[in-house]
Amino acid sequence: MTRLATPSMNSAAGEKLDRFMSGLIKRNPGEPEFHQAVQEVAESVIPYVLEHPKYDEAQILERMTEPDRIVIFRVTWEDDDGNIRANRAWRVQFNKSIGPYKGGMRFHPSVTQSLLKFLGFEQIFKNSLTGLPMGGAKGGSNFNPKGKSDREVMRFCQSLMIELSRHIGEDTDIPAGDIGVGAREIGYMFGQYMRLTNRFTGVLTGKGLAFGGSLVRKEATGYGAVYFMRNMLELKGEGIDGRTVTVSGSGNVALYCIEKLIELGAKVVTASDSAGFIHDPDGIDAHKFAWLKDLKEIRRGRISEYAEQFGCEYHDGKRPWGVPCELAFPCATQNELNGDDAKRLLANGLVAIAEGANMPSTLDAVHAFLDATILFGPAKAANAGGVAVSGLEQSQNSLRISWSREEVDRRLKDIMKGIHEKCVQFGDDGNGYVNHVRGANIGGFVKVADAMLAYGIV
Ligand code: NDP
Repeated sequence: MTRLATPSMNSAAGEKLDRFMSGLIKRNPGEPEFHQAVQEVAESVIPYVLEHPKYDEAQILERMTEPDRIVIFRVTWEDDDGNIRANRAWRVQFNKSIGPYKGGMRFHPSVTQSLLKFLGFEQIFKNSLTGLPMGGAKGGSNFNPKGKSDREVMRFCQSLMIELSRHIGEDTDIPAGDIGVGAREIGYMFGQYMRLTNRFTGVLTGKGLAFGGSLVRKEATGYGAVYFMRNMLELKGEGIDGRTVTVSGSGNVALYCIEKLIELGAKVVTASDSAGFIHDPDGIDAHKFAWLKDLKEIRRGRISEYAEQFGCEYHDGKRPWGVPCELAFPCATQNELNGDDAKRLLANGLVAIAEGANMPSTLDAVHAFLDATILFGPAKAANAGGVAVSGLEQSQNSLRISWSREEVDRRLKDIMKGIHEKCVQFGDDGNGYVNHVRGANIGGFVKVADAMLAYGIV
């Protein structure tokens, strides 16, 4: 990890940051992703806390970095060949000061407690920024849905829900999707929850439209990231139309980010998956996008097939950050863009970046973008559209109504605008530059911290 204190900090804040992070690392050994996520927040929040001693005296940041609870359990299931399989699953219920726990479930072989603690911690701030009453949580399993049959995925989801159902509820904790958990998995989990409880409630979000899902939920994270980018560019009197854009990933977030970018007149020249990336210098147009969406959402194919279909370059085992662009949207996974990638992007004329994935940039990369004073939309702000529309799905479930596509999209735009305004409020450097990282961290922190102060010593 890079030296803890950043150069722009005064010495009191730097010392406190070093002390705070050493303690956190000692208490949470072997959890590098969690350390990284906390440090990114602490770099902004510690100077603020020192200026506002009520938070320091009440040890708010120390309490906020300790989850309320973590449930760990075994998920046993039978594969199609009759073999008995066992996976591990978690639900990290991090903080419910401003509302019931809310956050996705991730199914991927790389899932560990560290990964889920980082995601759950980020979720506290992100949910707070949306302005909706949602606490922070995250869950998942090291189960790999790739290559499994629908029946295997169903048996796994049903077995997982037998235990998870004891810990969730529409006023307690409302899980959603994430990597490896889409409409299919949410359907299986929701179906099992209903069998177990005999209740039809909004206990999961990302549901199918036929059973309580919201219009625009599946598009929300990608669309929201593009709306956030537009808000950032407007600060400089600029826009998205005609820009050359790189996107990583080709899953839920990346696909709808690309769709909205095409609609707004940008030229998207890359997409990727865990095997490599495609470079299409002519841009992914609406026709190619429809093909790509079918490839990824229906046929569950590989991104290399796009290159074969449309005769463009495919770079095996590589990431797209060497391709010149003005705007970049990392939408695949954590730590997919490092300090060297950031330098390359900047040297190639990058103007702005919005994080669609959670923590896709390493700390070195974040520092490089901020030092270059380019517009940088951190994940907890830029990708909050997904959880925001999840919150709207809950509202519709409670009200027993469904809003139109236009209504949900309008609310999503308003929420992203509100998040951006909060970033400006707390991140304006006063010299014409808005540090959206500081703005998002402090903007998310204050509401949760004030609620925690009101509850006393709990
Ligand atoms: P999906 O599973 O739909 O897609 C993930 C994409 O990232 C796929 O293209 C996948 O490729 C690629 N990917 C996954 N792991 C790696 C890896 N280790 N290296 C390179 N590429 C990888 O997930 P989502 O689109 O839902 O999520 C993407 C990111 O956005 C995650 O960080 C998630 O936490 C975040 N996010 C998602 C939200 C949502 O609403 N879905 C909300 C907010 C944040 P492959 O198919 O080969 O695995």
